[in-house]
Amino acid sequence: MTIRTRFAPSPTGYLHIGSARTALFSWLFARHHGGKALLRIEDTDKARSTQEAVDAIYHGLAWLGLDWDEEPVLQSSRAARHQQVALELLEKGRAYKCYATPEELEEMRRTAQAEGRTTFYDRRWREPQQATPQGMPPVIRLKMPLEGETVIEDAVQGRVTVANTQLDDFVLLRSDGSPTYMLSVVVDDHDMGITHIIRGDDHLNNAFRQYYLFQAMAWDIPVFAHIPLIHGADGAKLSKRHGALGVESYHQMGFLPEAICNYLLRLGWGHGDAEIISREQAIEWFSLEKIGKAASRFDMAKLTALNAHYIKEKPTQELYALLEPFLVEKYHGLSGEQEHWLRQGLPALQERAKTMRELADMAGIYAGMPPFALTEKGKAAWTAEVKQQLTALQQPLTQISPWTKETLEHTLKVFADTHRLKLGAVMMPLRLALTGDTASPSVFEIMAILGKAETLFRVSTLLHDKNAAVQ
Ligand code: GLU
Repeated sequence: MTIRTRFAPSPTGYLHIGSARTALFSWLFARHHGGKALLRIEDTDKARSTQEAVDAIYHGLAWLGLDWDEEPVLQSSRAARHQQVALELLEKGRAYKCYATPEELEEMRRTAQAEGRTTFYDRRWREPQQATPQGMPPVIRLKMPLEGETVIEDAVQGRVTVANTQLDDFVLLRSDGSPTYMLSVVVDDHDMGITHIIRGDDHLNNAFRQYYLFQAMAWDIPVFAHIPLIHGADGAKLSKRHGALGVESYHQMGFLPEAICNYLLRLGWGHGDAEIISREQAIEWFSLEKIGKAASRFDMAKLTALNAHYIKEKPTQELYALLEPFLVEKYHGLSGEQEHWLRQGLPALQERAKTMRELADMAGIYAGMPPFALTEKGKAAWTAEVKQQLTALQQPLTQISPWTKETLEHTLKVFADTHRLKLGAVMMPLRLALTGDTASPSVFEIMAILGKAETLFRVSTLLHDKNAAVQ
């Protein structure tokens, strides 16, 4: 049997970070088994579905590196087929026409509420005693079992049981002939040959109803795997107030897709102690059995730590390309010289940055224009004494030739010895002049990359900067 999974998002907003995990799990499961991972856009709710949201799904998945086999299925294009199945069920006697009016349904709902029942429809049209009303289009309902219980062996949740009295004869076709979500999902899953339905456990209740729809059509029932939802750090279901929810926002915040995928995978799934898991390893190791049953909590600090790891590991050339949009946004483009500097300085910066946005900030050493505004720490460090040292450093710096890391190191060591200073104390004023901050990668490296003229220019700029008042 070839495994076939699907990811079936409703395009009503951004690609939710929780949906991204569902997509990842479906994809990994298919890839692990050498099967097919399919995509279905559930756009039947015309009022809420937008093209923008469809595009956000495509972009988000592509950004995460999740590709799909076969053409994506647009659920809305299959309405005629969904209707046909409802009519077939009607013919087979597995479904029936129901003419209950909105007022009657409301009445039934009220009674059910008063009696504390979750199902309300009283099945009055299942074996009708009354005459069919004229000129009133019916809905079509599925005949559900009246007693007993339904058991689903869920690949994640284990055995789940529901009393059949909890399951009502749900609607397959509305009175305007439009198929309901419940019908569309089952017909599509069958027609797409889906063997494993992997999705959020908010759909577990639907599974019991869908189960009977498969059965009524004498179709194979796929394996269900309902994965727990992601909660916020406070334990509540992940919602807007927990911050960004769309995958695109994480991209904007400067997260790499590798970090997001690694994080989402580890959230509720594990392979021994492995924390850093490559795509290849994930495909090799993924299994539904190891998905936890409990909801997992979204932990921004963990995601950020993973992101720092992936930034560090990224080949510098590739990282530069990924950084470019952030550079454009922040510096409106770089001169050839700035780009040349930054490419050389990037390896040291990527060691330190936790997000691409932070990396773009750090890139200011090479991409920014002096004078550099001193940071708070920089301001505190800019004392009369430090200013004096920087003045004194100008002369020996001017004389260095050739201008290399080694000659710089040598000259500044001699300077420190002569003035009975620690090397660190000599570097501080230079660091302030070059970066405006008290922390940065090696000052020797920065000076070597910027060259003599730019270094001396920055030193002199800080010395003459009227906005940089000494403390
Ligand atoms: N379209 C549904 C959703 O976005 C998923 C349906 C399913 O996976 O069966 O929640």
